[in-house]
Amino acid sequence: MFEMMALPYETTALVPYVTEETINYHYGKHYKTYVDNLNKLITGTEFENLPLIEIIKKTYGKPEYQGIFNNAGQVFNHEFYWKSMSPQPTEPSEELKNRIVQDFGSMEKLLEAMKNAAVSQFGSGWAWLVDNNGKLEVMKTANADTPVAHGIKPLLNIDVWEHAYYLDYQNRRADYLDEFLKHLVNWKFASE
Ligand code: MN
Repeated sequence: MFEMMALPYETTALVPYVTEETINYHYGKHYKTYVDNLNKLITGTEFENLPLIEIIKKTYGKPEYQGIFNNAGQVFNHEFYWKSMSPQPTEPSEELKNRIVQDFGSMEKLLEAMKNAAVSQFGSGWAWLVDNNGKLEVMKTANADTPVAHGIKPLLNIDVWEHAYYLDYQNRRADYLDEFLKHLVNWKFASE
């Protein structure tokens, strides 16, 4: 059985960029539902006692396990998202800074690539900074898909499902992304 991850900050900590109302729905209802559904779906199956990432890898691309994959992927993606945000300003480590310059040219170019990926994800999904075999890359995934299903290591993510921003920004996904990239990114977490 999986338990909900404790939110690493208060529900009001990300105001004004993410409001308490959004966190209450997003963490307290959407994320909770993914955890509850995953537990229901794996009870009594071969997946019951496996670590989350193993469940994701074993159910990826298998139509008969689509429901388990969707909920397991969303549990992983949301837990990564809670950790990808920080109420306090953070800085990337020297090592991460150097790798960003090496692989993207500059921090500004990375932020631009993250925003482009997040804006251009059609429908629901996620934007990611990942380490793909030693090279930093930006990627986007649809719905519950996740880099760990493909053996790629995530460093940061941004939820671009409408439930992540609609109460605060309505249809203005780009505005949510501007505030997220400017004020919320947890570079300390990405560096680790
Ligand atoms: Mn979400």
